Formats: sequence, structure tokens, C-alpha cells
Amino acid sequence: MIDPGHGGTVKLPGSAPNNATSVSGVAEKVLTLDFGFCLRDALVAQAARTGERITVALTRETDVNVAGAARAALVGALGARAFLSLHFNGAADPAVRGSETFYRAAEKGNVNPAPDIAFAGAVQAGLMAGMRAIDPAAKDRGVKPDSQSGPGGIGVLNDAALGNLRRPRPAVAALAELEFITHPRVDRLLVSGAAAQANRQAVAGRMAEAIRGYLSA
Ligand SMILES: [Zn+2]
Repeated sequence: MIDPGHGGTVKLPGSAPNNATSVSGVAEKVLTLDFGFCLRDALVAQAARTGERITVALTRETDVNVAGAARAALVGALGARAFLSLHFNGAADPAVRGSETFYRAAEKGNVNPAPDIAFAGAVQAGLMAGMRAIDPAAKDRGVKPDSQSGPGGIGVLNDAALGNLRRPRPAVAALAELEFITHPRVDRLLVSGAAAQANRQAVAGRMAEAIRGYLSA
């Protein structure tokens, strides 16, 4: 289950319509949806080449917002094995950049912290492999518990919302902050430059390889 962050124009519980905006003026919600399609297509194409079976669903496929709990609830409803929420970051300081992946902190009642940490690690490794392939200056901000993401943690990673309290085999869940689109070089690489679309596909491809590796292990 791929979750393109944000969407639409209405603020809903656990999901703002948009947070970050790129240097070039593109909304995070547009980029998360595009990247979600890139990642889905990469997963399906790679699995077809290797003969693996994979089913990929998105929490949204249009410019619409979905409440945080409703995004997570699709995991339980569809019996998904893995949930990855996609976001781009923003900062007031244009020099701030880097890629990071969050998992649900143990102190926030995570029922499956070890698999979540392993999944987040695979996502982050794929993300960094992709970013380094397109940018030698890529910055690894690491894998972090959502206790570091701000008060309350990340709602879509809540095990009750994911349906994990009722499942014998909980789904793994992570949230990737792919890069800071408020950084001018990142904006050119991933948003506004001539190679931006190809670069996004390249990063999604490496992430897809890492996710398939985790799921098949
Ligand atoms: Zn976001």
C-alpha cells in the first residue's frame, strides 16, 4: 500500500491538504502523487521481469485529501503486508536537505517495532541508493522513530489505525520524507530540472528494488 501524502484542498483529521512547496512553486501533494505512481509502476514492472507476484494499491490516485486514519484503515481492509507513506519535506532554511524514513516508536504502542524498523531500513537504503545515483551530494538523515517527528507522532503509522491490533501478522509501516523541496539543488534534481521526471523514476526504481527485497526475504 502506497500512501501519497496530502491532497485536495480540505484539511482533514491527520492530513493537511498540503505542507511543503518547492522552490519552483510545485506543491508537495502533486509530487507525492507522481512519486506514488512512479513507485507503483516500478514495483509492478520489476516483479513482472522476475516472475514475482505483487499487488500494489494507492490510498489516493487523484488530487483529493484522505483523513489519516482512513489512509491507514485501507491496510487492514485490503490485507496489505506493507504500508509506505510518501512525503516531501520543507524548511525555512533553504540549505537544509536530506532523506529520512520514520517508523512508529515503541513508546507509542508499536506492536511490531522490529519488522517496522527493518522495513524502514530497507526503504531508506533504497531511497539513498537512488538519491546517490542522481546526486553525489545526497544526504542521509537516517531511519528515525516518529517520537522525533513532533508531538503526537505520525498518525498513519498508528497500529490501531492500521488494523494491526486485530491481525495475527501485522503489516509493516513506514513514512519516507524523500527530500527537502525547499533546497534549490533538490528542486532542480527532483522537481523542475530537465531530468526531474527521469530522476524521480530512478529513485523510485531503487526504492522498489529495496521494498521487493524486504518483502521476499
Ligand atoms: Zn508532507
